[in-house]
Formats: sequence, C-alpha cells, structure tokens
Amino acid sequence: MDASVRGRRVRTVLVAGGAGFVGSHLCDALIAEGASVICVDSFVTGRRANVAPLDNHPRFRLIEHDVSESLAIDEELDEIFNLACAASPPRYQAAPVHTMMTSVVGTANLLTLAEEHGAHFLQASTSEVYGDPEQHPQREDYRGNVNCTGPRACYDEGKRAAEALCFDFLRLGRVDARVARIFNTYGPRMQPDDGRIISTFIYQALGGRPLTVYGDGEQTRSFCFVSDLVEGLLRLMRVEPNPGAPVNLGNPGEFTVNELARLVRDGTGSPSSVVYLPLPEDDPLRRRPDIGRARDVLGWEPVVPLTEGLDLTIDWFRVSARANGDKRRR
Ligand code: NAD
Ligand code: UDP
Repeated sequence: MDASVRGRRVRTVLVAGGAGFVGSHLCDALIAEGASVICVDSFVTGRRANVAPLDNHPRFRLIEHDVSESLAIDEELDEIFNLACAASPPRYQAAPVHTMMTSVVGTANLLTLAEEHGAHFLQASTSEVYGDPEQHPQREDYRGNVNCTGPRACYDEGKRAAEALCFDFLRLGRVDARVARIFNTYGPRMQPDDGRIISTFIYQALGGRPLTVYGDGEQTRSFCFVSDLVEGLLRLMRVEPNPGAPVNLGNPGEFTVNELARLVRDGTGSPSSVVYLPLPEDDPLRRRPDIGRARDVLGWEPVVPLTEGLDLTIDWFRVSARANGDKRRR
C-alpha cells in the first residue's frame, strides 16, 4: 500500500468493523480526506460489497480477521477506530458469547495494538450502556439501568466493559483512547434483513408487506443519519485535548415506533398495513441523547433531519433491490 501522497506522509488508519454499515462510510470518509485505510473485518455482519467501491484503491487494504484474536500490523498506525461488533439485536443475540468476546477481548487486543503503535484510539460504544434508562434525555454522567443477565447483556455489558478498558488504558497513560456513545444510526448500506427498525420497515414497505411494530409502538428512539455520525466520530478522534470522558453522538429528535412506521409508509408511498407483535425482552422504553457535551467539545451536532435521511435511505434500498434483482435474473 502506498503510504504517502506526493511525498507527504499521510495518516494510516485502521478501521475494525470497516466492512459494516457505519464502518464502510467511515472508510469512505477517511479515503476521501487522503488517509491510508486498513479495514479489518470478520464479515460476521459486514459485507464485502460495502467496501467494494474501495477494492482497488491504492490507499485501501482489507484484512479478514476476527478481532477477538490478536493481530499484528506492519505499517505504522496513527489511528484505530474500533467499530467491530454486530449492532442489530437479533444478530448480536444469535452468537451472544462471541458478541461479548468481540467487545471485551477484541477491544483489549486493539488497545494493545494502539499502544504498540502509539496510535490514537476511538471506541464505538453505544447508548445501550444506559440500558432501559430512568433518566431522559440521557447525559453521559448517567450510569444506566442495564439488566446484566438478560438477552441484551452480551452487547450492553460487553460495551460497558470495553469502555472500562479504554479508560484504564487512558488513565495508565498507555493509549490516547476516546469513547463515542452512539445512538441509533441509519442510512444506506444497512442490510434489509438485519432486524433493525429502519432497515426492516423500509424493506417491508417496499415489498408491500405489513410493518412489524413490537409492543404498542409507543417506545421511542432517536435516529441519526450516518454522515452526521461519521463527522462526529472523526471530530472526536482528533479533538485536542482528549475529552477524557465518553461523548454521546446521536440526533436528539425523538420518535415513537408508530411515528416512524407512518414516516416510512409516507416516504415509500407504500400501502403496507401495520401488525403489532410482542415487545422483545428488555427493550428500552425511551431513548434520546443529550448532546450538550458533543456541542461544547466537538462543535458537532447532526444536520440531516429524519425525513431527509429516510428519503436517502429509501432511495438506496430501491436501487440496491433493483441491482440484486438484476443479478438474480442474470
Ligand atoms: P454492523 O453490524 O453493520 O457492523 C459491525 C462490523 O463489525 C461488521 O462489519 C462485522 O462483520 C464486524 N465484526 C463484528 N464482530 C467482529 C469481530 N469479532 N472481528 C472483526 N470484525 C467484526 O454495525 P454498525 O451499525 O455498522 O455498527 C458499527 C459499530 O457502531 C458497532 O460497534 C456498534 O456497536 C456501534 N453502534 C452502532 C449503532 C447503530 O445504530 N448503527 C448504535 C450504537 C453503536
Ligand atoms: N422494532 C420494531 N419492529 C421491528 C424492529 C424493531 O418495532 O421490526 C422496535 C424495537 O422493539 C425497538 C425499536 O424498534 O423498540 C428499535 O429497535 P432496533 O433493533 O432498531 O434498535 P435498538 O432496540 O437496539 O435501539
């Protein structure tokens, strides 16, 4: 891989989980700004197609590897983003022990790699560290309400342990670690069958099937478009001094699941009905980020409203469904 552009040494950045939904957009943004990118992914939920546009790029390299196994990298690394971990509840619950090991052992491995390289480190944590929150909106100093023995614990507690590791490496002066607490994010490249609400609703609406609302649909989430999130991740990685504390990244607009169903039906023009199904165990009732810290420390806030982001995502789902249909017909 060419690690310099016109004689100037450029940043070399490792993105773990770089073939996933968010990770692939982050790889695109890093390549666009001139970095050399090493994408490490085991393809447990990610897809080669997500990074196919970068396939032959001279500053892009893809390594198939499971981060719960240690790894060595020859190039000198400047930054490591750790996004490796399935994010969709049905997906991370399908292999719960592996999910936990990915967050705990995987983060420890990547922090060790960062220490070896003197690289800055950013951990993709989650609003799930707040569990089913009793504080609303959620601020970073809220310690959360997580059921440590429930079906979501493999994800929530894994991410909490990963945060603890980051702050220990930071306190010990071993790694310049930063932690983003990401709230529900959506956009192109979500997999239609990954079980997350926006991808599921769009897929169902475009297919004219009923939208599956869990519970009474009055639970809320706050949805951030992926380009806004990527901008927040880049700013958090580079801001000086290190905030030394987690930073919420999300869109404070709060919507019920019923409202989202209506927006997706309007946006797709679909005649789909809605069916009500049982609420999954430990499903959080309300979620909305307080982004005061991100505004103060990063000068960041989301700029893409939900209706606009939904239109972009619906367009992408339409185009990719057509392309897949064409491939099947060939
Ligand atoms: P995703 O499932 O699309 O991407 C995760 C990527 O990590 C996939 O490419 C997957 O193959 C890879 N991966 C998983 N386990 C791995 C392992 N052991 N070794 C190597 N690669 C592995 O999910 P996403 O939505 O892109 O989320 C990216 C990150 O952001 C995750 O860490 C997730 O926890 C965090 N996050 C996302 C959201 C969201 O709404 N998208 C919200 C909160 C946090
Ligand atoms: N949800 C739903 N129908 C679906 C998928 C999800 O009603 O087909 C609900 C789910 O119960 C939750 C919300 O939508 O209350 C967000 O779910 P998602 O899995 O996208 O994210 P998370 O629960 O991790 O925030």
